[in-house]
Amino acid sequence: CGIVGYVGTEQAAPILLAGLSKLEYRGYDSAGIAIRNEDTGDITVVKAKGRLKILSEKTNEGHAVPGTCGIGHTRWATHGEPSENNAHPHCTDDKSVVLVHNGIIENYQELKDKLIKSGYAFYSQTDTEIAVKLVDYYYRKTGTPLEAISRAMLRIRGSYAFGIMFHDHPGKIFAARKDSPLIIGKSQTGCLIASDVPAILDKTRNVYYIGNHEIAELSQDEIHFYNIDREEIQKEQVEIKWDA
Ligand code: GLU
Repeated sequence: CGIVGYVGTEQAAPILLAGLSKLEYRGYDSAGIAIRNEDTGDITVVKAKGRLKILSEKTNEGHAVPGTCGIGHTRWATHGEPSENNAHPHCTDDKSVVLVHNGIIENYQELKDKLIKSGYAFYSQTDTEIAVKLVDYYYRKTGTPLEAISRAMLRIRGSYAFGIMFHDHPGKIFAARKDSPLIIGKSQTGCLIASDVPAILDKTRNVYYIGNHEIAELSQDEIHFYNIDREEIQKEQVEIKWDA
């Protein structure tokens, strides 16, 4: 339902929690964040059923999860009951890939059967867990995030906005979408992704709109956009003139 991501020089978790709170009006049943600690290299995932306030308390307003790169999500369940286990972010067993998703993956059962045959285990009832494991499947085959994401996009039917982190690619967030909204922002201290403008308006008014079947690669001070053939494309920055 709601997505926020940040990579930069500030602590990510408080920015994600503040951003997600701006999207509360859309409704949600659970929430979660994934933060990379650049000192240890580890990615920590914290999730909670119910109000964002519970996630906030669980993470001491985000301060208990240090790190300057992360993705967050508020979930409106479509596949699988509202629960901490079904809440996003979802990840692979070794956290090689961590992902948040808005939308619905229509052919998830077919993809799940394929992935189970390839040795993947599933722990949630969500369609989203198929996406993170499919990206991992192609990442292990190709070794590059861009190719893994584009190949997964070619297999997935339905609607999606994804925020993705790869353990092997510290300081980076990848984003992709089809038929679910997602924007990219550039602030003084870093780069952001969000499913809607109000989530990041405190941080920046300079945004880029990602088109259907496009991928964005964000680091602290750079944003690159690609089409599904992994060719780099140029985008115009748009200034948001209205207030939330
Ligand atoms: N279909 C996904 C789920 O049920 C994502 C729902 C959403 O957009 O929040 O987990």
